Amino acid sequence: MAVYLDNAATTKPCREAVDAAAEAMTVNYGNPSSLHRMGLDAQLAVDSARKSIASALGCEAGCIYFTSGATESNNLALRGAAGAYGKRRKKIIISSVEHASVSETAKELEKNGFEVVRIHPREDGKFYAADFLAAADESVCLISMMLVNNETGYIMPVKETFSTVKRKFPEIITHCDCVQGFMKLPVKASALNADLISLSGHKIHAVKGIGALFIKKGVRLVPIVTGGKQEKGIRSGTESVPLIAAFGAAVDKLSPTVSQRYDRLSELRQKLLDRLGRTEGITVNSSADGSPYIVNISAAGRRSEIMLHYLEQRQIYVSSGSACSKGAQSGVLGEFGVKPAEADSALRISMSAETTEEELDAFAEALAEGIEKIKH
Ligand code: PLP
Repeated sequence: MAVYLDNAATTKPCREAVDAAAEAMTVNYGNPSSLHRMGLDAQLAVDSARKSIASALGCEAGCIYFTSGATESNNLALRGAAGAYGKRRKKIIISSVEHASVSETAKELEKNGFEVVRIHPREDGKFYAADFLAAADESVCLISMMLVNNETGYIMPVKETFSTVKRKFPEIITHCDCVQGFMKLPVKASALNADLISLSGHKIHAVKGIGALFIKKGVRLVPIVTGGKQEKGIRSGTESVPLIAAFGAAVDKLSPTVSQRYDRLSELRQKLLDRLGRTEGITVNSSADGSPYIVNISAAGRRSEIMLHYLEQRQIYVSSGSACSKGAQSGVLGEFGVKPAEADSALRISMSAETTEEELDAFAEALAEGIEKIKH
């Protein structure tokens, strides 16, 4: 039996998501822009998914805009806000551990005349709202900060930072990449004090190629995809009704159990850490107050790729770094104070609603064996 522990890279679509997509491909396959009955039915499916996501995020349905995934949502947030507010306000603040879809986009904006300030964690490996506030001034157009780091599970002080900054500079647009937090932690738009929130479908048991951006009422963005003015002109292109329906179905399934799963995963993580603690040489790179869904460890000096393939032979799937960089080190672990030698042997174990204790036991056992067998 395969043990899939790479859920921060992607999750298995749930049956409800697959069924919803299939229904939209085989029966309800009209174009939401068409004026006839089939168009209307497709539009209703899109609206229903929008309502589900909005309800989970605690916002009005009109604030949810569908995109092709969180990479696009992050691009739209940064480029769109820079386009709308960046004529005179040329500074952007991001954390130093953002996903590439934020950090690379910020780099592009830097080439186009924006100043990008990157806030680093302090020596204790933690981020502080005061450091973001110290970098803020009248020239800042946007602050972008993720909720849960995809490599370590670290939970950023988003609410505190955005509230502190907004109190002094209410005109600064705040953006949160909530990809690894949505449906895992209780994420509410108003509680985060975020103007923009990025979400992704395939991290929550929907399907790949669908995401959303929450845009607070009154916040303007310059669209990055123009055309037929779908999604109120913010994101043109015929809506992918099957993927949107799948996204809505996955949210409907998961949203009633967020806190229940959080508690279960916290227990599972603790058991895993207790077990790993008995294996010599393993260090834990995630902090105890991080998301219980992601545990990052260093495996006693055994190179990540070698260990990853050793585990793979036993049908155990974990990640060496963030999957989107094909295992290449992103520098994020270094930001959190992990030494280069330890980063070389880092493994990310990421869990889902379906992860069981037996699966984690199988991983821990195979890891201990791997440490024995693989030469230092
Ligand atoms: N942001 C974070 C924190 C992620 O972990 C990922 C995916 O790994 C993304 C953004 C990109 O999401 P998508 O695959 O939907 O483009």
